[in-house]
Amino acid sequence: MNPIYAEMPTTIFEAMSALARELGAVNLGQGFPDGRGPDAVIEHAVTALREGSNQYPPMPGLPELRRAVADHYRRHQDMDLDWATEVTVTSGATEALAAAIFALVKPGDEVLLIQPMYDAYLPLVLRAGGVPRFARLAPPDWRIDAEMLDAAFTPNTRLVILNNPINPSASLFDADSLALLAERIVAHDAIVISDEVWEHLVFDGRRHLPIMAMPGMRERTVKIGSAGKIFSLTGWKVGWMCAAPHLTRVIAKAHQFLTFTTPPNLQAAAAYGLAMSDDYFAEMREGYARSRDRLAAGLGQAGYAVLPSVGTYFLSVDLAASGISADDVTFAEMAVREAGVATIPVSAFYAEDAVRNVVRLCFAKRDETIDSGIARMAMARQFFVSN
Ligand code: PMP
Ligand code: GLN
Repeated sequence: MNPIYAEMPTTIFEAMSALARELGAVNLGQGFPDGRGPDAVIEHAVTALREGSNQYPPMPGLPELRRAVADHYRRHQDMDLDWATEVTVTSGATEALAAAIFALVKPGDEVLLIQPMYDAYLPLVLRAGGVPRFARLAPPDWRIDAEMLDAAFTPNTRLVILNNPINPSASLFDADSLALLAERIVAHDAIVISDEVWEHLVFDGRRHLPIMAMPGMRERTVKIGSAGKIFSLTGWKVGWMCAAPHLTRVIAKAHQFLTFTTPPNLQAAAAYGLAMSDDYFAEMREGYARSRDRLAAGLGQAGYAVLPSVGTYFLSVDLAASGISADDVTFAEMAVREAGVATIPVSAFYAEDAVRNVVRLCFAKRDETIDSGIARMAMARQFFVSN
């Protein structure tokens, strides 16, 4: 048996959701919206299921979705991608990550990971034989700086995995941070896999910047997106990766042996959705920003120190600054078992030198869910503060 997987725990998202189901807790842990997603996109999938093909679509994806991805990024991020040679459809961003990592990492290659990091990155890098090196971000700013990067890059750095906006810290790399990173990636002749699944969820008038648009990065970036996030339909698992033709050719070879294709009906519906008017995207952001403010205000009233959330549909609380000396895992365990609210301990996103005083909460929920989550978080705090 492969020790990499045999010794690995079930993901924190699955573990917390399973506990929440078992205990009947309010689930603000695993990130998924409790709404239904846009009706027009769902209707499109229903029609495609009834009237379209239900057989294997082309391996790189339906041309209509690949065109829609290129058009979408032209419209929203001023990018110029050739749909036929630079866009591949995958079964969610997770498969895109696996395909890109398996195709680009050779045993012994150093891979730079920025902690906190999404849970799939490290196991995939290890399975590919990569040698991880870590940079470490910490609250409240979660910023990278030149010194940190210079310590993490080495002459053997072949690949960097970037997440922007960042899950779980709900922060965004700005143009200066991306420039720091891009300069070093170019200088080391490395490649970046840029996981941008949260690209449309940026708040307060901020703009998401794709690292592919930075000087020197067009030919050395694999940009990954997900319909699950853009349309609040996380179960669909329709994603894509965009990269220059020489990278796309190789990554598609890994994709063909992972899933080969993705359900054609859901691809057709995602293509329709990507072409929706700017209003859809603006309203989605406004709706999530309102939910963020509702959760932040309620937690603040309950005595929690809430960290800023400028992207994703997560926000975090700083336990230490909230007068709670327990670590994040102890807090999350107690909160789900005794107070009936599931959260995610942020230390799960670190492989070494973890931040242990922050828990993440998902606000992509109806007002009633948010309000009962707040009430239960208030109970959880009482437990720690009065004991
Ligand atoms: N990357 C990040 C940073 C994520 O937060 C998620 C899911 N929340 C994924 C990848 C996985 O996306 P998908 O469901 O499309 O596989
Ligand atoms: N990305 C989601 C989160 O951060 C969970 C996805 C999963 O469970 N794999 O909560």
